[in-house]
Amino acid sequence: MIRVENLKKQFGGFHAVDGVTLNIAKGSITGLIGPNGAGKSTLFNVIAGVHKPTSGQVFLDGEDITGLSPDSLFHKGLLRTFQIAHEFPSLTVRENLMMVPAGQSGETLWSALFQRKKIREEEAQLLKKADEVLDFLTISHLKDEKAGNLSGGQKKLLELGRTMMVDAKIVFLDEVGAGVNRTLLNTIGDAIVRLNKERGYTFCVIEHDMDFIGRLCDPVIVMAEGKMLATGAPDTIMQNEAVIEAYLGT
Ligand code: ADP
Ligand code: MG
Repeated sequence: MIRVENLKKQFGGFHAVDGVTLNIAKGSITGLIGPNGAGKSTLFNVIAGVHKPTSGQVFLDGEDITGLSPDSLFHKGLLRTFQIAHEFPSLTVRENLMMVPAGQSGETLWSALFQRKKIREEEAQLLKKADEVLDFLTISHLKDEKAGNLSGGQKKLLELGRTMMVDAKIVFLDEVGAGVNRTLLNTIGDAIVRLNKERGYTFCVIEHDMDFIGRLCDPVIVMAEGKMLATGAPDTIMQNEAVIEAYLGT
């Protein structure tokens, strides 16, 4: 589904992503691990259009999507969540979900004046969709809570929920489990597996928790110092000498 070819991203003279070539198979939950500073988030940012690459290419289902804006990628079904959740704190959980879909007819003055009925219908649909998403994520009881009052883990669930408001094909999750307690981490893991199995979402997941990675992901890609070190099944990858060395920092 995704092909990354010899991708490079430099900041000044620094090679954050230094010639990465990889594939993400349709229907997979692919893990991306590596020590801090390995370039994982930068790779996500370049794939998802947040940063333009210095060189190299990214393909989505064979189409060259290199350098497209996050907005156009969103419309192609490529979504990412951020290492730090970015909810609207003063809106409720349900309102946050309803903010996601773009291109609604409520956006222009024209439609505001002349398409009242259409807007109402779209709002009703959005509301229904948001309630389905909340139900799926088992957080219906939080729907009227201000997003700013959620725990770190609940915010991560909301981030995942935002990807469900549209027809995503592939979702990039950046440390969705960081600072999240074990119970909530399992809820997030279950939601990812269900989205994968029931809705056909492909995932690429950056995560430090190896239990989480081992339970969810196959294959796992390992990065260090901007380069791809290894790729393989989670149990074999941690036996790989280059991987062990990278983690020990030798
Ligand atoms: P990871 O997510 O694997 O921990 P990052 O992709 O966040 O790593 O960072 C890789 C390297 O690139 C780090 O050394 C980081 O300091 C550097 N870096 C990331 N973003 C920027 C930026 N916007 N400007 C300058 N350097 C950056
Ligand atoms: Mg990171």
